[in-house]
This record gives sequence, structure tokens and C-alpha cells, in this order.
Amino acid sequence: MNKNGLGLHLVLTGAPGCGKGTQARILRDKIAIAHLSTGEMLRAEAEKPTKEGREIKELLDAGSFVTDEMIIQMVSRRIEEDDCKNGFILDGFPRTLPQAEVLEKMLDDKGIILDAVIEIQVPDEIIMERILGRYSCMTCGAGYHDKFQKPKIYGVCDKCGGTNFYRRVDDNRTTVQNRLINYRKLTYPTIPYFEQKKLLKCVDGTGTIDATAKKIDDLLKVVSE
Ligand code: AMP
Repeated sequence: MNKNGLGLHLVLTGAPGCGKGTQARILRDKIAIAHLSTGEMLRAEAEKPTKEGREIKELLDAGSFVTDEMIIQMVSRRIEEDDCKNGFILDGFPRTLPQAEVLEKMLDDKGIILDAVIEIQVPDEIIMERILGRYSCMTCGAGYHDKFQKPKIYGVCDKCGGTNFYRRVDDNRTTVQNRLINYRKLTYPTIPYFEQKKLLKCVDGTGTIDATAKKIDDLLKVVSE
């Protein structure tokens, strides 16, 4: 609960591969608020056999951003849903300065106060190794890594026993380089923006998943006071 007696409303930000999605899922399970990943929403849209689905897939596969207009509409609709009533974690949004400005207005209109923007900081050389080795369970979505987080039994998901796994199409060296360039050029300007609004909290994301989760926990204790 935050000082208004409502659930927390958070943004998790940082370069691709910094661990936003992993930490957002941990937080969702711990404090029972909705996890809104714009990347997941877009990957679901990209599966659809429509013109729009194909256009989104092309952008995602190249590591390019979809338009601000499209993503803003998507998020605006999503935060109206019932599971967001107790709060939410935005993962992957806002990703540009115009998105950040619209988010502020959108939340204002809905009477929602943003509690914090958490930036998970990880240097580029670590990011590449993390992204190129990561994969997920096709059944439950649990995340694994070739080197850092192998399942206990080879080829079997620890969480659900599933035996089918997948790698994201955009997790290849060329696309990751493009995603990092886009991050620096388009997303990074949102960091000083949120800092100026006294919402920014930075966390070192180079340690283990548990170590980063603990840092976020400690930080949220202060935010919730
Ligand atoms: P993610 O799962 O957060 O790494 O997002 C995967 C891809 O979805 C990104 O590389 C972008 O192509 C697209 N995407 C996700 N969120 C946004 C956003 N807020 N604005 C524009 N494109 C986005």
C-alpha cells in the first residue's frame, strides 16, 4: 500500500535484458498487482494473422519501436481492466519521452499517482551475454539461461514440468544491437525526465536475480512509507 491507501503504481525501466520482466514477475507475485508488459502485449498482437499483426511482427523482429500512438492506446485500454484496480507495474512503457508525457496525463486523468520509476542499471557487455543465452518455457513462461539459470533437470521446466522451450526472435546479436541503440536514443531521455519529477530510483542489476529483487524490495519499503 502507498500513502494514499491504494496499491502501488510502478514503472520498471532500463535497457533491454536488464531484468525488467523477471523483476516485474517477482513483484507481481509478491505484492499481487498487475504486470503490464508492452513487449508481451505486442508479441501477442504479432501472432495474429492480420495486416496489423504482420506489421508489428516486422518491427519487433528488427528491434524497432512501434508507434507511440499505438502503444499509448494499448496501455490506456489495459490499465482500465479489473486486475489493475489494486495497482500495476509497467514493464517496457514508457519507452520514449512522448510516451512518458502522455503517461503522466493519462494517470492524472484517472486519478492515479505514480509511486516510483525504477531503473535497473546493467552495462551493455553484460546485457548481450544475458539476452543471447535466455529462453523461456512455452507452457508457463518461466525464464532460463544457457549459462546463468539452467533448469534442474536438462530440458524440463522447474516450475511446470513442461519440456518445450522458445527463444525470442528478437534475441539475436544484430537485433539486440539495434534495440540498445534505440534504448540510448529514444528511451534514455525518460530517465532525467523522471529524475526531475523526483520519481526515479536506481538499482544495480548486475547481481543475481535474488540480489536485484532484494534491492527493489528495500527501495519499495521506503516508497511505501
Ligand atoms: P520488450 O519485451 O520490453 O523487450 O519489448 C520487445 C519489443 O516490443 C521492443 O523491442 C519494441 O520493438 C516493442 N515495444 C515494447 N514496448 C514498446 C513501447 N513502449 N514503445 C514502442 N515499442 C515497444
